Order: sequence, then C-alpha cells, then structure tokens
Amino acid sequence: MKVRIDEDLCAGHGRCYTLAPGVFDCDDRGQGSVISEDVPEGLRAQAELGAQNCPERAIIITEN
Ligand code: SF4
Repeated sequence: MKVRIDEDLCAGHGRCYTLAPGVFDCDDRGQGSVISEDVPEGLRAQAELGAQNCPERAIIITEN
C-alpha cells in the first residue's frame, strides 16, 4: 500500500502522527508527513487508523 498526505488539506492537527507514529511524522511546522510512501503490510492497521482519524481527510491510501 502507498500513503500520502494532501498538503493543501492538512491543517496540522497532529492526530495522524500521534495515533500512528510508525507511519506518520510531523514536519517543522507541525504538519503531517509520511515516513515512507511505501507502507509495509505490517503497518496497514496504523495507516488506516491515521487516515480514519484525520479531520481534514487529507490522508490518501492507495493499493499498489
Ligand atoms: S491528522 Fe490530518 S490534518 Fe492532522 S496532521 Fe495528520 S494529515 Fe494533517
């Protein structure tokens, strides 16, 4: 799976990197970033948890 963040939508709430620190990190402005766009299967649940809890729906998950 691949995960990315739409920077135009991200408002820096920090829920993604608080709930799923194995997948998301924050940049120096407090906005979300992805540690690696290619997320291994073992981190799928974390990635989905972060996406489900993003108030801005800024996290995009694709399967490839
Ligand atoms: S939860 Fe969403 S809005 Fe908040 S930092 Fe993460 S991607 Fe950005």
